[in-house]
Amino acid sequence: MDLGHLAQLCYNMTESYLQITNGTDVINGTQEAIRITKDQLLLDIFKKWNPFNDALSFSFNGGKDCQVLLLLYLSCLWEFFMLGVSSSQFDRKYHKFPLTKLPSVLISQEEVFSTVDSYIAESIDRYNLDLYESTPQNGNHIDMAQAFENYLNLYPSTKAIVIGVRYTDPFGEHFKPLQPTDSNWPYFLRVQPILHWKLENIWSYLLFSGEPICGMYAKGFTSIGDIDNTLPNPYLIINSTNVKPQFLFSKEVERSFYQDKNATNEINITPLQPIDIKLIDSFEDDYYPGWFLVDDAKERAGRIKKQ
Ligand code: ATP
Repeated sequence: MDLGHLAQLCYNMTESYLQITNGTDVINGTQEAIRITKDQLLLDIFKKWNPFNDALSFSFNGGKDCQVLLLLYLSCLWEFFMLGVSSSQFDRKYHKFPLTKLPSVLISQEEVFSTVDSYIAESIDRYNLDLYESTPQNGNHIDMAQAFENYLNLYPSTKAIVIGVRYTDPFGEHFKPLQPTDSNWPYFLRVQPILHWKLENIWSYLLFSGEPICGMYAKGFTSIGDIDNTLPNPYLIINSTNVKPQFLFSKEVERSFYQDKNATNEINITPLQPIDIKLIDSFEDDYYPGWFLVDDAKERAGRIKKQ
């Protein structure tokens, strides 16, 4: 599917989420979160930088937060495009969606789960990403700041990078929707339109979307870093002293916006890679899927400190 049609699909999906009536408290809260994000992008960011020129880029690592932001960003691109069409003297048929690929950037990490790797590869196709992937230098992974510097040298027209961080992420409480990078980083503007999203909002919108989600989340992971610092979330262990978690998103799954109308009423998960299956099978415990956890304070309980 080309980027224009995909953006339109994301717009239709987002609008149908916004039109859910008699929703749960989570759905009501997520509708509000979506409206805030849309306003930030359409009324502020896209007025500062036209998203169809090459000043904006999207940081993508295959995680659930950046997937949510990507779907919303594409939805806003469609809305922005249609606003331009409606204010033009020329008929709709004379307007072509101006982008074919979305400028995006991935900073390679040390040892990534192969399921995440393959999910990213699928996303490049599915979401028409023009994804720059940082490469190791002299066989070593370079730090984020250096990697972004390399990116900006290669794409000097980039003024701002869209990032899926939230207030509940480490150091996130002090972030602003639009802020410059720290002084020890190469200069660009950080666009952070989902800061206010809670974990329950993320799952709600994502499960409603019917989009394929990275398979690691089905196996109890709630936040994914490198292999050597990420485990499934201990609060999701089955048959432990943990209280059985509640599934809060039945309505979202029942009403899910399917791209494939023949799809069954199930959550769309990308397959796990054999090497990760082996790893997960080696764990002593079984886990509820990641979306059974909605407590923001516990989201990163599976992220362990490096030795
Ligand atoms: P999860 O917490 O489930 O792993 P996530 O990866 O989307 O989801 P974070 O790890 O909190 O969320 O990262 C926040 C955001 O920072 C991402 O949404 C993405 O925009 C950006 N980001 C993080 N790591 C990278 C990376 N290696 N390359 C490019 N962007 C990244």
